[in-house]
Amino acid sequence: MRQVLRFAAERAVRYLEELPERRVGPSAEAVRALGAFEESFPEGPCAPEEVIGMLDDAGSPATMGMAGPRFFGWVIGGTLPAALAANWLATAWDQNAGLFIATPIGATLEEVSQRWLLDALGLPAGCGAAFVTGATVANFTALAAARHAVLKRVGWDVESRGLFGAPEIQVVVGEEAHPSLVKSLGMLGLGRERVIRVPVDSEGRMRAERLPELRPPCILCLQAGNVNTGAFDPAREIIPRARERSAWVHVDGAFGLWAAASPRYRHLVEGFAEADSWATDAHKWLNVPYDSGLAFVRSPDDLQGAMSLSAAYLPQGEHREPSQYVPELSRRARGVEIWAALKSLGRSGLAELVERCCRCAERFAEGLTAMGFEVLNEVVLNQVLVSFGSPEVTERVIAGIQEDGTCWCGGTVWQDRHAMRISVSSWATTEADIDRSLEAIRRVARAAGVTRQGRPADPASGR
Ligand SMILES: *Cc1c(COP(=O)(O)O)cnc(C)c1O
Repeated sequence: MRQVLRFAAERAVRYLEELPERRVGPSAEAVRALGAFEESFPEGPCAPEEVIGMLDDAGSPATMGMAGPRFFGWVIGGTLPAALAANWLATAWDQNAGLFIATPIGATLEEVSQRWLLDALGLPAGCGAAFVTGATVANFTALAAARHAVLKRVGWDVESRGLFGAPEIQVVVGEEAHPSLVKSLGMLGLGRERVIRVPVDSEGRMRAERLPELRPPCILCLQAGNVNTGAFDPAREIIPRARERSAWVHVDGAFGLWAAASPRYRHLVEGFAEADSWATDAHKWLNVPYDSGLAFVRSPDDLQGAMSLSAAYLPQGEHREPSQYVPELSRRARGVEIWAALKSLGRSGLAELVERCCRCAERFAEGLTAMGFEVLNEVVLNQVLVSFGSPEVTERVIAGIQEDGTCWCGGTVWQDRHAMRISVSSWATTEADIDRSLEAIRRVARAAGVTRQGRPADPASGR
């Protein structure tokens, strides 16, 4: 055991140390070399070290450098050293985190993390919390609590009776709701298509004046942090109106909710704490390993009502029972890494992490604008959308940047414009990484024949 663990740890350390200087996306050659894994099921055993050796030799080169400092695709985040090390230790513990009696440490660290998270995110201290796999399942879990509560108010027990014959729930989302939220609604029998979609403004924010008349039982879903622009729905205007109509307000704040952890960016989440439930990710901005998401529900009873193993409420003992708040029974102890990340950062470290990412996004936007490229969004948080001209030219630059390997960014279509999307959410990213990435973008754009927005390079000018 000792030998193989040491060996794996050494290889992992080497991988992470080499990461800042290797290409971010895997090379085509490394992807081709994955053919090494295409063998038929081995007839006999293989030494553990040989297994790990193969994994590192053939596997590591074919990874995307998500844990490194210049990965800006999607909203991913890396892994803080304390969180990674805690993950190793917790994996050695192999705790089934379903019940307190099964894992006092796992359950305790969920309880402690819950308290710290609610504090850091500026949410009511009495909320119930679910430690799940990601924001998709967090949305699902919180919306299951919403479904439970709004139907209970009209005398319908949805857990026992299902949705057949139930009073219709009005579901309202923004035109820019994340696809995973809409999927969650589908999984809950609330329908992906039958929802009312509220029009949005140029930054993707729900337009409060276009809110339909809300009729209970009603669930209204807001967004804190649009995945393209980083923009926030106008919670302060909308939530009081929803409250008047007894609507349940849910917030998808997969990464945006973390703005609350910074005094500088806290104003963006003003009003969101008045909602009934929130979903967020720990594997994005908190920089814990995959997978880790969080659902918070103002009334823990509603969360338990939807998630309890038995239809009857189990009496709450002295301790919080983790499985009473989540879809799963057996699962890993995600609270361990969340605790480790929060403990290692502290309040000031968390604020610094959020602020540095936002500062880096601003630096990207300024640099790109100075090069003559068009930044399509108001850079309020950690997201930057940039166009290099026509859709074809923008696609060409994105492909060039991925091939170049200095950094990695993906494409998106934002309100009918093709754009490259830059998300800064890793603890490892510094201003120097932004400058290095900007240099690469300049180089690639020039090679692709663009120097200024949409204009081919002028060979005579030598630029
Ligand atoms: C990333 C994201 C999700 C989905 O989160 P997963 O962790 O991938 O399940 C949902 N909503 C928003 C706004 C996101 O950014």
